[in-house]
Formats: sequence, C-alpha cells, structure tokens
Amino acid sequence: MRVPFVAGNWKMYKTVSEARTFVAELVPAIREIQGVDKVICPPFVNLMAVNALLEGSPIGLGAQNMHWEEQGAYTGEVSPVMLAELCEYVILGHSERRGYFCETDANVNKKMRAALAVGLTPIVCIGETLEENEAGKTAEVLEAQIANGFVDISLPDPEKLIVAYEPIWAIGTGKAATAEGANAIIADVIRPAIESLFGAAVASRIRVLYGGSVKANNAREFFEQPDIDGGLVGGACLKVDEFTKIIQAAI
Ligand code: PEP
Repeated sequence: MRVPFVAGNWKMYKTVSEARTFVAELVPAIREIQGVDKVICPPFVNLMAVNALLEGSPIGLGAQNMHWEEQGAYTGEVSPVMLAELCEYVILGHSERRGYFCETDANVNKKMRAALAVGLTPIVCIGETLEENEAGKTAEVLEAQIANGFVDISLPDPEKLIVAYEPIWAIGTGKAATAEGANAIIADVIRPAIESLFGAAVASRIRVLYGGSVKANNAREFFEQPDIDGGLVGGACLKVDEFTKIIQAAI
C-alpha cells in the first residue's frame, strides 16, 4: 500500500564536478529499479547540475534544508520558491540542523508549511538523543517533536509528507537501532502521534523511514519491518554500489 522510499542525504559532501561524475554513474545503476521511490539530496550548490543530469529519469531530487520565507534579507539562506524550480523534496529538521544550527520544532513547522505551500515534499526528521533514549524518554521526545513540529499543517495528500525516524545516537555512528526496535517506535509512537493530528487514514498512508547507519548489509532487516517504509541514508549513499544495494533491498 505504501510505496517504499529511499533517500540519500549527501550532507556536505561532493563538489559540483564530483557530483556530476557520481550522478552519471548512479543513474544507470538505479534507473531501472522498479517499485521504490529513489531520491538524492545533494548540497544546494549541486542542485542545478544534478537536476540537469536527472532529467527524464525516475530519480527524485531534494535539498537538505531551506528558509521558510519566500525571499528577503536573509544572507546565506535559500528559499522554498528557489528550491521548487530545482527539486521536489526537502529534508527538514535533520538532527545536524537541530544540533549545530539551533533549529527548533517551531522552525521546522514554519519550514514544513512553506515547503508544502510551494509543492515541495518535506522529509521531516525526528529522533531522540542517546541520553533521552537511555532515560526512557524516547516516546515523550518524539511525541513533542510531532505535536509541535507538525501542528496546524493541512495535509490533503499523505504522499506529500515523508517522516524519517532517526535516533540521533544511530546517525553516522555505525551503531544502528535494531530493526524490531525502530519498527516498534514507528508503530507504537510515531503513527499514533501522526494519527492524533491528521487522523487514522493519513497515519496509515504516510511513509515513515528509518535513518541511522543504514548500510547495504543491514538495509533489508529494516525494510522488511511492516511499519518501516524505507530509509534516509547518510554515509552509505555516497558510494554508487552501496546505495544501489540499499535501494534494491527496499523492493
Ligand atoms: C542521515 O544523515 O540522515 C543519516 C542517517 O546518516 P548515516 O546513514 O550516515 O547514519
């Protein structure tokens, strides 16, 4: 019922020329893989070049962040309307944005609304720290991130929002959550919290990804879980072979 979804977050890796070489290799490797939505999210400066290379391919393009205003005196920022000319997706509320750049649920909420208003599909990241996890606060933290971050959003089409459960202690650490554990969090905490805002139909149709040290050798375990609809992949999306295997595991 929910089409699997795999997105690669390049973070701050690859120059424009590196991106061109990489995408020229990636497109033929993943183009024919059917039954899964495939998206890559390079840094802003690569979007134009990558957009041209992806033309006519079934591979989606996303950004990693954006401002919520349409335009204005916000030095260094990129607006939703600028992105809408170049890509279809935008990652919002990644833990690296929340942690290093002080993003709050209120910022994420404004960005989500702005993204949806211009037709971008947000990939919204939520997740708890190791400390919160060990203190048994995971559910509380995720419920607050959803209640505050997703409030007052109108979502006529559940396909237009992707949620990524990314326990912060699993990101870039090589220490992934267990597949069963991540599935239980999504089924017992995340979908019910989404249901309380958007209703049962949306909660059952919205795609929820797992992210945090997903690799070719563990992707299948996660993707086999009934409530995990794919992955948000960081480090492992930077190599064509590895990312291709992860996408294949999602079918
Ligand atoms: C991420 O950046 O969203 C991520 C999950 O990173 P990694 O796969 O490297 O843990």
